[in-house]
Amino acid sequence: MLDQALTRLDEAARHLELDADVLEKLKYPRETTKVRLLIRMDDGSRKSFMAWRCRYDDTRGPTKGGIRFHPDSTDEEVETLAFWMTFKCAVMNLPYGGGKGAVRVDPHTLSKSELERLSRAYIQAFSKIIGPDRDIPAPDVYTNSMIMGWMADEYASIVGESTPAVITGKPIALGGSLGRDDATARGGFYLVRHLAEKLGLAPGGRVAIQGFGNAGQHIARLLASDGYKIVAVSDSGGAISCPSGLDLERLFAAKRTGSVTSLAGSNGVTALPGDEIVSVECDLLVPAALEDMIHAENAASVRARVVLELANGPVTPEADAILARKGVVVLPDILANAGGVTVSYFEWVQNRQGYYWPVEDVHARLKTAMEREGEAIWEMAAKHATTLRSAAYVHALSRLAQAIEAHGTQQFFAS
Ligand code: NAD
Repeated sequence: MLDQALTRLDEAARHLELDADVLEKLKYPRETTKVRLLIRMDDGSRKSFMAWRCRYDDTRGPTKGGIRFHPDSTDEEVETLAFWMTFKCAVMNLPYGGGKGAVRVDPHTLSKSELERLSRAYIQAFSKIIGPDRDIPAPDVYTNSMIMGWMADEYASIVGESTPAVITGKPIALGGSLGRDDATARGGFYLVRHLAEKLGLAPGGRVAIQGFGNAGQHIARLLASDGYKIVAVSDSGGAISCPSGLDLERLFAAKRTGSVTSLAGSNGVTALPGDEIVSVECDLLVPAALEDMIHAENAASVRARVVLELANGPVTPEADAILARKGVVVLPDILANAGGVTVSYFEWVQNRQGYYWPVEDVHARLKTAMEREGEAIWEMAAKHATTLRSAAYVHALSRLAQAIEAHGTQQFFAS
């Protein structure tokens, strides 16, 4: 997985004249710490869970990245996600490097008390690695604002003082930022709106969404409010479609109590095998679940003209090449889902200022940032005659290179 991610770095490096130091620094994670967390379960037994924190690169500032609770998490997944965060923060010009964390667990099998103990155990294990000027976690797959609140509280009791800037994505009442809950989807939404004409998209267009959690549900609501029609969605239970448009309120209600698939069989809604969401007839396909969902075997079946990557790494490099040949435009993850980390940055700034902004300010600043970087990447893709993904990597890499080279290059030291 990391090797695949590094192919994007090599490809971007071909468009720039870089000092050798830059690639030597960015080819490897700076540090990955692996710990076995041991917690007391409700039945009195002890159970252990593998956990990681990776700080991939901190040249541009403290490392930043979410914590994932997932039964399939591995060292390599965490390092790859941290690599992507390094580039995402550089794409958005945030003063951060990239990091990531994970616990190998299916959180659905834990009671609420076990989940709290596990979240606090994570901070006990990693309290020396994280910190508001060192490494700042946030939510990711199967973690949420309540978990971030527990984690911030645990950190405060370890260091002996309230330190809200140590973690972002907290509940509003505990120092979270207004507008963080839908920031990932909203950033993607502002990007689509800004580039709609160039992409050949317009309200009334049909949308299919893979994954119906935080990112998937908010993008459905935002696009529908602009007049787009949500014709198919999926979650881990399977997929459903309705060519005339799904009823969002019913979808949200179904998701609150289980899977979206419970709506199949009435009101013109039909069930599909989960994988078939990628080949639904639509204008915009939004992967908002996990990595590698569009791959060499199914990329040719994509019928959308635009893919908005709200998930991290949903399209493999082989699938990228197939989509490019078909003329499908991919709005790449390190830009398309960067609204989440951008508003996390706003949260960190507000925590440090001790002054909290109205939601309108958060939205306005996010919109400006998405449009500014989206436009720059669009122009860079035209200039280098390349995909938006390559352009986004070139854009990020040039910022990372400036920071790395500012410490002196081989040429500087050897002369
Ligand atoms: P979430 O836990 O809220 O939701 C994940 C959704 O994916 C759930 O609906 C789940 O049922 C679904 N899912 C799981 N396996 C699936 C499968 N095989 N097929 C279809 N659906 C499946 O997570 P989230 O926060 O919405 O994150 C989703 C993606 O967005 C991840 O790749 C994450 O890294 C990325 N992301 C999230 C944020 C954020 O702020 N939440 C920021 C940047 C990127």
